[in-house]
Amino acid sequence: MKFNIAVLPGDGIGPEVIEQSIEIIMAVGEKYGHKFILTEAKLGGCAIDAYGEPLPSETLELCKNSDAVLLGAVGGYKWDTLPGNKRPEAGLLGIRAGLGLFANLRPAVIYNSLKDASPLRSDIVKDGIDIMVVRELTGGMYFGDRGRKQTNDMGQAAYDTEMYSEFEVERIVRLAFETAMKRKKLLTSVDKANVLESSRLWREVVLKVSADYPEVTLNHMYVDNAAMQLIRNPMQFDVMVTTNMFGDILSDEASMITGSIGMLPSASLGKGTLGLYEPIHGSAPDIAGQDKANPIATILSVAMMMKYSFGLDQIASDIESAVCKVLDKGYRTGDIASPGSNVIGTKMMGCLIKNELLAL
Ligand code: NAD
Repeated sequence: MKFNIAVLPGDGIGPEVIEQSIEIIMAVGEKYGHKFILTEAKLGGCAIDAYGEPLPSETLELCKNSDAVLLGAVGGYKWDTLPGNKRPEAGLLGIRAGLGLFANLRPAVIYNSLKDASPLRSDIVKDGIDIMVVRELTGGMYFGDRGRKQTNDMGQAAYDTEMYSEFEVERIVRLAFETAMKRKKLLTSVDKANVLESSRLWREVVLKVSADYPEVTLNHMYVDNAAMQLIRNPMQFDVMVTTNMFGDILSDEASMITGSIGMLPSASLGKGTLGLYEPIHGSAPDIAGQDKANPIATILSVAMMMKYSFGLDQIASDIESAVCKVLDKGYRTGDIASPGSNVIGTKMMGCLIKNELLAL
């Protein structure tokens, strides 16, 4: 099969981790006989330097006309003093909105050989952790009506509005049920229905959609309890689905219990198969250009691309197996190293994973 991939390396360590991911995509093409046509474009700080804006229209057009988008990371000290809507990160919001990506999928996985990296006790993570957080990405409080007003007696007041339509809830919840169907068929919907009206509607829609997925075991959990349960017993979760704001917080919490930001991929999906795939970490300007960045989060984002945009599930799990094999042999980048481990750089990590993949 033939696929067009838009590649946006971005800033800082972005180009370094993308370089290794391209090697993996090329290896996949060679091993499995698919053709990948990669076209690079600028997003973030490098786009500000070249075009004066973080998301040039050429970049958005290219992405819209591709089968998938692979993104490194954006941002850096150089652009830190620009106003909010001119900063590199504004390009990220723009591209997600421009491509209509309403769902963010973030797996939080602890690999057997990296259990020591988790801040949780070993008896809590003994059988590993494998959670998929499905976060609504284009609605809720981050996009709702907001403002300030002056009150007579209490000074300024400010408000942000949490509003969800049945349509918005249904599309993300369906995607979460579909995701659960491909995993352990266990879905936890997280809300605050004991307090918020928007959560009560959320729960009603979840219950309605659940009738179409009788094989999936559904449970509802209040967000405060979910935050606690993620620390107390993370192994109870398979797929979690929640709103934009709750998902923002819970997906960061879930990722931290796995121990390293350099290991975690993400996918942002919309209505069709076009998706945007990126590591959850930023551009790490403190280590940029030093061959120290862990490329695994981006390589695992390629695995998600194979699965969710191209339907190549076997290739996705082969990439994951290649990563596991390299970790099992004791190779580590600095961010996941422990005393006695064999510390290697970005390029070598990419090369070892590629060799394992080709040898499978
Ligand atoms: P960051 O994720 O870039 O870095 C946090 C820490 O983790 C740093 O110490 C860094 O060296 C380390 N780190 C991150 N990724 C790593 C990797 N792959 N391998 C090894 N170590 C890694 O977060 P930050 O420092 O808060 O932000 C830096 C810049 O990135 C800022 O401009 C920020 O706005 C931007 N940012 C971009 C994105 C994105 O592009 N999606 C996300 C978050 C932050």
